[in-house]
Amino acid sequence: MDHSSLPDRASFPLLAANPDLVWLDNAATTQKPGVVLDAERRFYEESNANVHRGGHRLGYAATEAYEAARNTVARFINASAQEIVFTRGATEAINLVAYSWGGSQLKAGDEIILSTLEHHANIVPWQLIAQRTGAVIRPIPLQEDGQIDMTAFASLLGPRTRMVAISQMSNALGVCPPLEQIIEAARSVGARVLVDGAQGIAHQAVDVAALGADFYVFSGHKVFGPTGIGVLWGRAELLADMPPWQGGGEMIERVSFAGTTFAPAPRRFEAGTPAFAQTVALAAALEWLSAQDRPAIARHEAALYQQLAEGIRYLDGVRIVGNAPDKGPIASLVFGRAHPYDVAQFLDERDIAVRVGNHCAGPLMQSLGLSQGTLRVSLALYNTSADIERLLAALQDTLELLQ
Ligand code: PMP
Repeated sequence: MDHSSLPDRASFPLLAANPDLVWLDNAATTQKPGVVLDAERRFYEESNANVHRGGHRLGYAATEAYEAARNTVARFINASAQEIVFTRGATEAINLVAYSWGGSQLKAGDEIILSTLEHHANIVPWQLIAQRTGAVIRPIPLQEDGQIDMTAFASLLGPRTRMVAISQMSNALGVCPPLEQIIEAARSVGARVLVDGAQGIAHQAVDVAALGADFYVFSGHKVFGPTGIGVLWGRAELLADMPPWQGGGEMIERVSFAGTTFAPAPRRFEAGTPAFAQTVALAAALEWLSAQDRPAIARHEAALYQQLAEGIRYLDGVRIVGNAPDKGPIASLVFGRAHPYDVAQFLDERDIAVRVGNHCAGPLMQSLGLSQGTLRVSLALYNTSADIERLLAALQDTLELLQ
C-alpha cells in the first residue's frame, strides 16, 4: 500500500510524541495536526480580541478571522456563509434545530422519523421537543446487516411526517444509510431532513447543495479540529423563519425593556461570545483536510477496514456487528465469551486505544440484543496497516487468555 501521498503520524504532535500508541478511537475524537494547534496558538498570540465588538483594530481583525472561518466552513460543504451557524458541536446543533424549528413547527400528532442507528444526540433532543409539542417519534427498524430497513421507512412516511433525522454514518457500526433515497422519499411527503454528519464528515466529501437535505450538523473535534466548536448548516429560508433559542449579546438588533428585535441568521443563533479561537482553528483543520487527496484517503481507510475484517475472520469467536455494504471505517466487535471491557483493558496495556460500551446508541444496542455493548475500532487517515497488524496480534493474544 502506498502511503506516500497521505499525511503521516509526524504531522500529528500527539502521535509523534507517542510512537507506540495505536489510536483506534477516532469516532470519539480525532488527533490534531500541528497546523491546527499552530493556528489556535497563533490566534491567541497575535489576534486575540472578542469578535463583533468594535473599538479597536485587534477586534476588527479577530472579527474578520471569525467570519473568514465561516466562509471556509461554507466552502467545505458547498454552502453559503449565511447558512452556517457556529455551535458547540453536533449535539448543540441538533438541539438548536429541535428547539427552534421543532418548537415553532411541530404540533400534537406530527411525526418525527429517526433511525435505530442514531446516536443519543440525534434522539434525545427530539424526545424533549416531542414531549413539549405532543409530536410522536417513529423509529425505523434495521435489517439483519445493520442497514436501515427501507421498506419499513417507506411505510412510516406519511402526511404527518414533519422531520426525518438520520445519520450519514453510524458511530457504532459504521453503516451509512442511503441518504439520497431517504431524502427524496422524505421530501416527497413534504418532510424536512436533518443529516447528522458527526461521523461522515471526516471520511466523505460533503456537498449540502447536492445532498438536498434541510439541515446538516457536525463537530469540529471529529474532523481534526478543536473541541467546543461545531456547525449547523440550514437552508437560508428555514433559518430565516426560525425563532432564537438562546438570548444574549450579539444575537439582537435592538434591545429595550419594551421589547427586543433579533439579528438575522446566522447571528440570531449565536448568543454570547462565540468560541472564536476554536472557530479559526476549525477553519485551519478544514483547509488542511481540503488540501489532502481525499479519494486516496478514502481508499486507504477502506483498505485498512478490509485488512481488519479479513484478520477478524481468523480469530475464533470474534464477530463484526453489521456487515452492510458501503460501511465507513468503523467496526464494532463482539466476542464469544470475553467481555468487551476486559478485551479493551488488555489492548490498552499494549498501547492500543479502542472504545467499549454502547457508544451512546442505546436503542441500537437494545435492538441488536447486545447488553454488554461492543468493542469499537474506528479508523482515521493516519492509521496504518501496521496498526491493524498490532491490533489483530493483540486480539489473538488477549482472546487466548480470556476465552
Ligand atoms: N452524532 C454522532 C453520529 C456522533 O458520533 C456524535 C459523537 N460521538 C455526536 C452526534 C455528538 O457529537 P458531539 O458530542 O461532538 O456533540
